[in-house]
Amino acid sequence: MNPFEMAKKQLEIVADQMNLDSNILCFLKRIERSLIVSIPVVMDDGSFKIFEGYRVQHSTIRGPGKGGVRFSELVTHDEVKALAMWMTWKTSLHNLPLGGAKGGVCVDPKKLSVKELEHITRRYTAEIIDIIGPDKDVPAPDVGTNAQTMAYMMDTYSMQSGKTIPGVVTGKPIEIGGSPGRSTATGTGLFFIIEQYCKTLKLDLKSMTTSVQGFGKVGSVIAKKLYKAGSKVIAVSDLDGTFYSEKGININKLLDWVKSGKNFIDYKEKSVKIIPNKDFFKIKCDILIPAALENQITENNAGDLDCKVVLEGANGPTTPEADKILEKKGIVVIPDILANGGGAIVSYFEYVQDINAYYWDLERVNSELKKIILNTFENVYKIAKKEKIPLRDAAYRIAISRLATAVKLRGVFP
Ligand code: GLU
Repeated sequence: MNPFEMAKKQLEIVADQMNLDSNILCFLKRIERSLIVSIPVVMDDGSFKIFEGYRVQHSTIRGPGKGGVRFSELVTHDEVKALAMWMTWKTSLHNLPLGGAKGGVCVDPKKLSVKELEHITRRYTAEIIDIIGPDKDVPAPDVGTNAQTMAYMMDTYSMQSGKTIPGVVTGKPIEIGGSPGRSTATGTGLFFIIEQYCKTLKLDLKSMTTSVQGFGKVGSVIAKKLYKAGSKVIAVSDLDGTFYSEKGININKLLDWVKSGKNFIDYKEKSVKIIPNKDFFKIKCDILIPAALENQITENNAGDLDCKVVLEGANGPTTPEADKILEKKGIVVIPDILANGGGAIVSYFEYVQDINAYYWDLERVNSELKKIILNTFENVYKIAKKEKIPLRDAAYRIAISRLATAVKLRGVFP
């Protein structure tokens, strides 16, 4: 499914349930601004290569645009539009004074050298420089980018401005204005949510089993936290395959293996076997965490799921058709904009710290993150229970009502 069509459909479903004013729906369905740029890079062998990049600002109605930059061969303009829209819902849901944006470059970062990656990052930043900035739009890491990418973006923007402006991007290294806890924030937020969900339903997290799709910035952190909490992580996958063990995988060992630069799929552990990725969603478990890309749980495989709860670490992993199937099966979906909001929340903290030039310690970051994300969880859960609707619909209702109020209050210029 085209991700932008999917994002608009999710909005329409909730707009219909809420009897949202059709003018507001029109307003929220459109993209505020979208820039397509061409990025020429001199490769290490002297040849020129041209890459295509995007920066999409879906909404700045509640504040500057916010959202990551994705480097992937699969990036399309429509994917970036969908991701920007989801960011608008996410920042609104958690009541951050920010809007929704996203960027992307169609490139496989694994195929580039360190120098080539630096060049592509700097040229991409230069091409979008007029529309980003602490009071306009603040990029962050996403799939295929990291703290180093943000350091190059910050430096490029600062060099063009004649002064250091750390607040132009978040997710930077701590040494140059990053926030403690930002690199693990999405996984930390996911853990706070699942812990609270279990408490609310009087479930024992320790006796539950989990499968995690993706072992990157999000999947590896939530897997480690669950493992540390004494919960069994029985399956972990990446692009090359899935590890499965009924007894649970030693996540600390797997993490050490990957951190030492070795190939994920070459990891060996007694009782852990490799199964093909096509069988990942058939694994019987309690908690299923898609923590890779969008469009993973679709009408074609939703029927195969054998779990109690889906905790969405990725953005847009479940299609609206799949949502219906899961609801019928009694599987609860804790939606992306609620569950994976930790990254955006701590990005907001980083932005606040940069602007004030006053930095917090990890304890303060995590305790404020917990306060915001659990408060959102409580609000979403209350509405879902009262209205007997899925958590996704409840989360969308909160996010969209807040945006609708902002649109009404600001009116339409001129
Ligand atoms: N890329 C992350 C997300 O999808 C973080 C965005 C941000 O921090 O701006 O939520």
